[in-house]
Amino acid sequence: DQEVCDFRRQWNIHVSGASVPKPCLSFGHFGFDEDLMGRIAACGYTEPTAIQKQAIPVAMAGRDIIGIAKTGSGKTAAFVLPMLVHLMDQPELKRGEGPIGLVLAPTRELAHQIHREAKRFAQACGAHVAVVYGGMSKTDQFKELRGQSVDILVATPGRLIDLVKMKATNLHRVSYLVLDEADRMFDLGFEPQVRSVCDRVRPDRQTLLFSATFPRKIERLALQVTSNDAVRVNIGHV
Ligand code: ADP
Ligand code: MG
Repeated sequence: DQEVCDFRRQWNIHVSGASVPKPCLSFGHFGFDEDLMGRIAACGYTEPTAIQKQAIPVAMAGRDIIGIAKTGSGKTAAFVLPMLVHLMDQPELKRGEGPIGLVLAPTRELAHQIHREAKRFAQACGAHVAVVYGGMSKTDQFKELRGQSVDILVATPGRLIDLVKMKATNLHRVSYLVLDEADRMFDLGFEPQVRSVCDRVRPDRQTLLFSATFPRKIERLALQVTSNDAVRVNIGHV
């Protein structure tokens, strides 16, 4: 379809994978409900960024994503908005224990930013978003996780594993997993923790991995943690 080709050429977007869902060029075309559309407007987002246009329909189709895009391209909303739709599709949202959506980020600053952005959109469905990271009291985080039902958890990998071992939370309900800034997590030495998290979440989960760079070691990790029908979305690189 010519419009799709023009869009991908204009933004230097390369996709690979079997029958890749088409990009949607406006927020009104993703099929979001009124509440979510209201939150998007309240956040001042009028038009999706290139990665949002291409990645959101892929994520909403339930496909895994290997996304390669630079900082500032709008990746957070690209994985958070489909995560909220995924959550709203869960009949047992309020029952059971442990988050359904899990986002791993390399640093506390990034975890904070993702948490802030996710909370703004999550108001649309009343989902509870929590954040845990290293450098903050484990006891406080333990209490926070135990004291409430968490639908979405944003975490740095090391602290998350510590808290899981302390039984502050468990990951067996996680069915939407995001590895954000995978290259930085790798460079910070979090590969074992990232793999450990991948082994603890549901094997039938949906996995979205984002990275600004894509060296061989990240490609290897990406292929191991995503399913065979993952869609690769590469924006602005050659
Ligand atoms: P990345 O994770 O790719 O570095 P972010 O998701 O942090 O990018 O987004 C970068 C900035 O752009 C943030 O301040 C975010 O709120 C803003 N932003 C993201 N998507 C849109 C959009 N569609 N319209 C306007 N601002 C946006
Ligand atoms: Mg980001």
